[in-house]
Amino acid sequence: MSTGTKTIEQLTRELGKLRMQLEEANDTIHAIRTGQVDAFIVQGENGVQLYTLNSADHPYRVFIESMQEGAITLNDSGVVLYCNSRFAEKVGHPLETVIGMDFNTFLQSEEKPAFEKILKGDWGTKVRHELQLKNVSGELIPFLLSVSSMEMNEASFLNIILTDLSYIKESQRQLQLKDEFIGIASHELKTPLTSLKGYLQLMRSYKKDELPPIIRQFIAKANESGNKLNTLVEDLLDVSKINAGKLDFKVERVSIAALLGAVVENARLIYPDFIFSCSSEDSLVISGNPERLEQVLMNLISNSVKYNRANLNIDITAIKQGDAARISVSDHGIGLTDNQKELIFERFYRVEDKNYQASGLGIGLYISSEIIKAHGGNIGVESTFGVGSTFYFTLPLAG
Ligand code: ADP
Repeated sequence: MSTGTKTIEQLTRELGKLRMQLEEANDTIHAIRTGQVDAFIVQGENGVQLYTLNSADHPYRVFIESMQEGAITLNDSGVVLYCNSRFAEKVGHPLETVIGMDFNTFLQSEEKPAFEKILKGDWGTKVRHELQLKNVSGELIPFLLSVSSMEMNEASFLNIILTDLSYIKESQRQLQLKDEFIGIASHELKTPLTSLKGYLQLMRSYKKDELPPIIRQFIAKANESGNKLNTLVEDLLDVSKINAGKLDFKVERVSIAALLGAVVENARLIYPDFIFSCSSEDSLVISGNPERLEQVLMNLISNSVKYNRANLNIDITAIKQGDAARISVSDHGIGLTDNQKELIFERFYRVEDKNYQASGLGIGLYISSEIIKAHGGNIGVESTFGVGSTFYFTLPLAG
């Protein structure tokens, strides 16, 4: 037997020793990961060495201290064991007094049972919960709580990250106030506008033959402006109906070819300078509201007119696509960038372009998309900036 060869017993002993070392290393790694040790000792070639974890967790402590969110750790009775200065700042208590406080101090009585559930709940799960906390002056601050549990030395703890929702809540409130204002204003505008249009009509027909032509022309212009104003007010009323979830309409069987025919005829009258082409596959029938769908098409057509350039062709087509009808309006206008394409269906969004200052409120496409969604369809746009756009929508075919 050569000196390099080992017996089975020697190898088994060596294997056992290596296995033990591996287990120790695994235990150490687990202890470090779960935060059970601050330091550990390693027997090295140059004797015993002490490693501390200070350097490792220092950046995390700084990170937690400096972040915008509040961070706290509670024990299973709800006592604050740790809190970062941001949380202390939010609730208006000095940091050193928050530690040791009962978390219930910050809760209103009606919120306590919900929090108690989280505290006593399944420690293994993560919870997201919205609640209001009382600051030192008794003011309520809305927070989003992101809760996770932790077990250490056979005790349970809750780690909570608290995001202040005041800013978001305030923006939501402002938006709601704006919506309410739009609802009231459009309602109030509607009545005098209707009577204005009525009187214009009376003027046009009263002693018709005696009216000087120039006055008839003035009345026609006033009527035109009245109609534009009426469309704007109707759009605003639609926005408030959508906000209130009340965009109701009656549904009937609609022939797409007939719908497009009527819309294009109307468009040719309103926009005589433009060249409209219209094609529709036969016998496409959907279930929908013809007035609302006409409104969508007229909106897309008026946009094609508004955002057009030298090429005055506008093509309206309808084809069958699977179980749906796909209707599109194509122009050769200013087009849209990828970024703009994502935003144009949002309420009040308008592209800011000094070169093309067309009037509008930025709600036409929003209303159109809500109408199409309410019909169970989809709306979208394909466009190349500077070349043109195709706005399309799909509607499920009637069975
Ligand atoms: P409005 O036309 O009143 O601004 P819309 O909601 O109808 O509101 O359209 C939103 C924006 O989308 C418009 O401001 C315009 O910038 C862009 N847009 C709509 N249609 C077209 C089109 N055919 N070509 C280019 N841009 C368009």
